[in-house]
Amino acid sequence: MPLDSLYWVITHNCNDKCDHCYNASAPKAVELTLDEAAQVIEHFPSPQAAPLRIIISGGEPLVNRKLLYACLDGLYERYGDAPQYMLQTNGDLLTAEILNEILSHHITRISIASIDRFHKAKGERAGVLRTLMESRGMIYDEAGALISKERLTESKLSFSMWGANEDFWIGGNWPRGRAIENGLYLKVPAHNFCAIPSGAKGFAGLVGTVQEIAVQLYNLYPCCPGTRMPLADLRHENLTDAVEKVTAHPMWQALNKGEPSQMGIYKGISEATATARITALGNVCLWCDEFFEKHYEAFVPNTTEPHQNLHHAPSEMFVQISLPETLS
Ligand code: SF4
Ligand code: SF4
Repeated sequence: MPLDSLYWVITHNCNDKCDHCYNASAPKAVELTLDEAAQVIEHFPSPQAAPLRIIISGGEPLVNRKLLYACLDGLYERYGDAPQYMLQTNGDLLTAEILNEILSHHITRISIASIDRFHKAKGERAGVLRTLMESRGMIYDEAGALISKERLTESKLSFSMWGANEDFWIGGNWPRGRAIENGLYLKVPAHNFCAIPSGAKGFAGLVGTVQEIAVQLYNLYPCCPGTRMPLADLRHENLTDAVEKVTAHPMWQALNKGEPSQMGIYKGISEATATARITALGNVCLWCDEFFEKHYEAFVPNTTEPHQNLHHAPSEMFVQISLPETLS
């Protein structure tokens, strides 16, 4: 089955430097090189298994349009019109000329993600941007940031506008980057961010769930906040193989169910113990970080063992690993 949604952050370079930014994007921050972008696309799912939706995000993708268009051209060369190509932008740099360029590079949906008090422009361009996009025949979609899976095959051009607030994006999640430095996330232990589409639930496939996977530059993650260790480096490894490789690992299976409180059961850490740690830390993702740092055992590659049911995977299939310095 094709992925429902592939979320790709191609740059952390951004014209803004918001206090709540979960990936610490800022002017002149790191971005993919053109070679790296081509390598990543080469390791995305095969053309026969084109994702239904590809979301390009940042950082601010419009800061480096050469990179953006190289990514879009590379994706189109691989997948043609099969996916819906969506651009997530803060909209600050969007002009009529740039909008024409974006649409000529196969984007059919634009998501303006800055209509809030945390961004520099504080949503003041909302009216201008709406008029601009409607002038190109794009339809304002009040349904929210994403359209439903059933509507992905629509050929209509559309856009949405939203932003960060205490209920959405900041609320209860994203304890990452400047959001955590500035305390701009709510500590709500009962909020299981892992179980929504931008969380890990369904990343490896789960009946009745949106299968969304996230790529930060070239690192593959099961969720947008990102686990302490990526699933793969897509400059060198295939996305499909990387997901397949962890399907037998009980920790990744718990995350695939959207249940971080169960991720340590195979290590003897009960759900009650994990829930107590989530309560103490205030957030499921912080518990997930702690688990990776203290308890995680990685799947041994090249094992000859067939995939096992998660509760019966033999312990020899896993090996304790140390986190690379860049991730700790
Ligand atoms: S939240 Fe968006 S606009 Fe603000 S710094 Fe991060 S990527 Fe840039
Ligand atoms: S709990 Fe872990 S896997 Fe789940 S959304 Fe948070 S960081 Fe991602």
